[in-house]
Amino acid sequence: MQIADGTVVSMDYALKDDEGTLLDQSQPGQPLAYLHGHKNIIPGLEAALEGKSVGDSVEVRVAPEDGYGQPNPALEQVVPRDRFQGIDQLEVGMQFQANTDQGPVSVRVVKVEDDDVTVDGNHPLAGKHLNFDVTVQDVRSATEEEIAHGHIHQGGGCCGGGGCGEGEGNTDGEGCGEGEGGGCGCSH
Ligand SMILES: [Zn+2]
Repeated sequence: MQIADGTVVSMDYALKDDEGTLLDQSQPGQPLAYLHGHKNIIPGLEAALEGKSVGDSVEVRVAPEDGYGQPNPALEQVVPRDRFQGIDQLEVGMQFQANTDQGPVSVRVVKVEDDDVTVDGNHPLAGKHLNFDVTVQDVRSATEEEIAHGHIHQGGGCCGGGGCGEGEGNTDGEGCGEGEGGGCGCSH
């Protein structure tokens, strides 16, 4: 079977930056699975996998425009240290949830200077070229339910639980498959 819209792909992958530093990889025997054609992975990688089959290996260098985009300077902000109450030691690299007009955003501390803390809400990989080395391990047809939800169901159901709407992540009243990124309110 070839990878096309509506197939579920399992792949081993390694991700490096242009300096050759390993940024992320799948664990041995635990390939990453995703629903093809539903923007569950970055567009540049999804496009490179189109038409591939089990056993195929793909090396692709994805430009920021087809990856996590260019960093948006507006997402970098200086906030006073007293906004971080209860945190003794503020360090570069720490992550926080910031509440914004657009909802909660994950931000990283990028600079600490006296009482000024600079936080960055950009994706850590924004602006980077992404070098993927991928081997396709499995390709199967998605179920109708998976396609309707826009994500895969592994381990017997939506988000690994029972039915849709029963998971703990759904208490916010958001319907299954309606969340941004195709989630059920859970993180994947
Ligand atoms: Zn679902």
